[in-house]
Parts: sequence; structure tokens; C-alpha cells
Amino acid sequence: MKKQFAVIGLGRFGGSICKSLSEQGMEVLAIDTDEEKVNNFSTIVTHAVVADGTDENALKSLGVRNFDHVIVAIGDNIQASILTTLILEEFGVSHITVKAQNDYHEKVLNKIGAHKVVHPERDMGIRIAHNIVSKNVLDYLELSKDYSIVELIAGEKICNKTLIDLNIRAKYGVNIMAVKRGDDINVSPHGTEKILQGDILIVIGAIVDINKLENALF
Ligand code: ATP
Ligand code: ATP
Ligand code: CA
Repeated sequence: MKKQFAVIGLGRFGGSICKSLSEQGMEVLAIDTDEEKVNNFSTIVTHAVVADGTDENALKSLGVRNFDHVIVAIGDNIQASILTTLILEEFGVSHITVKAQNDYHEKVLNKIGAHKVVHPERDMGIRIAHNIVSKNVLDYLELSKDYSIVELIAGEKICNKTLIDLNIRAKYGVNIMAVKRGDDINVSPHGTEKILQGDILIVIGAIVDINKLENALF
């Protein structure tokens, strides 16, 4: 059976989730209070309806409680986002993902039973800042407050050397998970793997250790 998703709030964030889920062949119910937004999505998703996420009866009659996953993407109206989440939690929806506007909002959402809280503006800001500061950093994913995964482009300092020559794990305590070269990707490379200029190294480790590696070799 196809998985059923409901997206409440069709701003840029909720809207792009709807599009991407639909492109992946998922069944999507799109909900917004704004009729124009709903009309814009009527040809993209399975069903698009005008409804208020804070209206328990409206959500009930749409059968939202039976959906596999509900995404709350109401932006500026934090009160509406919280109330909607609370109703979904009371329905017993098994996966509730909510977009948070700030840290306080996030804290409340976690308390009232959101299963996943996302913070797209903050996270994208962090990723872009890392990319701006170091031209060798292509992408940056924070795993926790202390650990991350970083994509680094190999420059002159390390090209034509093997992982054993560079002794990266022993020296910096981080692991090269994969090496991308053009369209090829070598997952869990051996120590004898030679790095070429322009290779993209996917590094996992403590943020302090990755910073040391970046400063020394990139
Ligand atoms: P984004 O950054 O994703 O574009 P935004 O920060 O601009 O979003 P808003 O425009 O405030 O966020 O909200 C996103 C959508 O949520 C809007 O289309 C808005 O009409 C809708 N929305 C707001 N309140 C409700 C509600 N109570 N029920 C359903 N939809 C709502
Ligand atoms: P270790 O003693 O660290 O477990 P190993 O037994 O896997 O290393 P080799 O594979 O020969 O030994 O690697 C020797 C050294 O090369 C490692 O200690 C490490 O510093 C570096 N190295 C090898 N593979 C990687 C990798 N994927 N990421 C980071 N460093 C690596
Ligand atoms: Ca916004």
C-alpha cells in the first residue's frame, strides 16, 4: 500500500515537501487556509483542501488521523502550529514532523509530542556559512552539537597521496567515509586509496577534529 502523507501549510517549505513527495509517487493531502495556495496545488497533489489545521473537526472529517505521516509547515503563526501539532498528537498520528520558527517553538513542539522538529532556515544558514568560510567545504551536515559530516574538496596538499600516507584517522581521529570522483563514488575506501586533486572526501567525526583536519590539509 502507498504511504499517505498530509502537509498542513503550503508556504515555500510545505509546498516543496508536497511537490517532492508527489514526484516520488506518494499520496499527498495538502491543506491550507488560503484558497489560492490550495488551488495552486490541486494539480500537483492527490487532494488539496481548504481547512484550518487548528480546527479539530475539520481534520477529523478529512481523516487526517489515519495518515502515516503528517507534516506541519505553518510558519509565522506559532500558535496555530502548536495547536495543530497538539491535535495531531491527541489523534495518535504515528509520525508528526513540524517546522519550527525558533528555539522556543522547537522546545514546545518537542514537549507536546512532535516526533521530529525541523529548522530549515537555521540549518541551511549553518551549511552555507561553512561553505562561505572555507572554499573547500562543499556541504556540511550537523549530526549533533559535537559531530558532523563534511564534504571537502581535495586540493594540492593531499593530492597523489594515499590515506595511509596522510594517516588521517590516526592523526585527526576522523574517518573518510567515501571518496567521490566525478560520477563514481567509492564507499569505505581502503588505506591504499590514492586521492586525486578535485576528489570530494566525505568525512565523519567530531567537529573539533574535522576543523583540525581542514586547517592542516585543505
Ligand atoms: P515558508 O517559509 O515555508 O514560505 P512562511 O514562513 O512564509 O513559510 P507562512 O506563510 O506563515 O509561513 O505559513 C505557511 C503556510 O501556512 C501559509 O500558506 C499559510 O496560509 C498556512 N497557514 C497558516 N496558518 C494556517 C492554519 N491554521 N491552518 C492551515 N494552514 C495555515
Ligand atoms: P587503524 O589502525 O586506524 O584501524 P587500519 O588497521 O584500518 O588502521 P589501514 O587501512 O592500513 O589500517 O590504514 C592505515 C592508516 O591510514 C589508518 O590508521 C588511518 O590513519 C589511515 N586511513 C585508512 N583508511 C582511512 C579512512 N577511511 N579514513 C581516514 N583514515 C584512513
Ligand atoms: Ca519563512
